[in-house]
Amino acid sequence: MPSHTENAFHSDLYGGRLTIDLDAIARNWSYLKNRLSGSTECAAAIKADAYGMGQAAAGKALFDAGCRTFFVAVPTEALSLRKVLPDAVIYALNGLLPGTVDHYLEHGIRPVLGSHDELTEWIDVCKSAGQSFDAAVHVDTGIHRLGLSPDEFSATLSNADLMGPFVPKLLMSHLACGSTPDHVMNIHQLELFREITEPHAHIPRSLANSAGTLMGQEFHFDLVRPGIALYGGQAIEDTPNPMTPVAKVEARIMIVRDVPEGDTIGYGARHTANRPLRNAVVAAGYADGLLRGASSSDDRPGGFAMIGGHRAPILGRISMDMITLDVTDVPDHLVKRGAFVEMLGPNVAAADLAAYAETIDYEYLTSLGQRFERIYAPLT
Ligand SMILES: *Cc1c(COP(=O)(O)O)cnc(C)c1O
Repeated sequence: MPSHTENAFHSDLYGGRLTIDLDAIARNWSYLKNRLSGSTECAAAIKADAYGMGQAAAGKALFDAGCRTFFVAVPTEALSLRKVLPDAVIYALNGLLPGTVDHYLEHGIRPVLGSHDELTEWIDVCKSAGQSFDAAVHVDTGIHRLGLSPDEFSATLSNADLMGPFVPKLLMSHLACGSTPDHVMNIHQLELFREITEPHAHIPRSLANSAGTLMGQEFHFDLVRPGIALYGGQAIEDTPNPMTPVAKVEARIMIVRDVPEGDTIGYGARHTANRPLRNAVVAAGYADGLLRGASSSDDRPGGFAMIGGHRAPILGRISMDMITLDVTDVPDHLVKRGAFVEMLGPNVAAADLAAYAETIDYEYLTSLGQRFERIYAPLT
């Protein structure tokens, strides 16, 4: 695939660059698809700008790979995805906010009806029109966010008068603890979902996110909805990640300087040089999405960058516009002014920096901001 950029300015004018490998997204989708039985559909969660990777580019790459069903969160995401994928099935996970029905119908967007009120509103629209409009129904099996309670779900779906002409296109629920497969919640939700949807098993059913997709076929039902795994993220904790990395963040070195032993580095003077250090100041910070929680101090280590196979630990606080790296042990020729360091990519997993910041790669990827040069190209 030829590389292309979507940038307003010359490359030299950016502090850093975000490279996104669309072929890797397609490969990750195929990898998951190949784990499914022939009758199970592999959809894609593409909310939050495709987890920061770019909704339009990722959507087209997934469609070209064979994906036909997409899940976004909010109505605006659904409408912008519709513009690039006129023939895809698009679900809006956040369901039916007041005032959205006409927009959904006009653009052929399917809401995931997440409460009794939402379901009732949709049914009323179907009854008025004397026809079924496409939508999913979400039943809560234990996460207690969106979804009808099991009782509401069963009472409504088995009552033909209440349902009128409405026939859901999909029945779904969402796992609370997929990232920890041994958690008892998974089996509990699986059994509850199976039990309450069994009377309606002629309608396609879906339970699995990425983690559920990787956990095994009993979680797959008729359709799986992976997100993070498509973008190379770590769906299941504490296991080797089978997915191909998709994103690379490189930032440019502005200055290389010496820090005498005993001096401190950065805001708050929280990190003291315990020996004479060489420090590279790079042009990306938390305003670019690099998680400030991965700062280092005398009390705790922070994240790290990679420079030509050498590890360069973060020194002190991550600031808005820059990060300081310990390059004392990195060969001189690799730490020249203007050179790029890898903050995220094949050698620095998003989950690694996120762990130092006590968060998850989902938050890190979705925070990668608008200030980097954005390049669509293979990660080499
Ligand atoms: C975000 C989301 C997904 C995708 O989850 P991942 O963990 O990123 O695979 C699937 N289903 C629902 C309801 C979601 O909100």
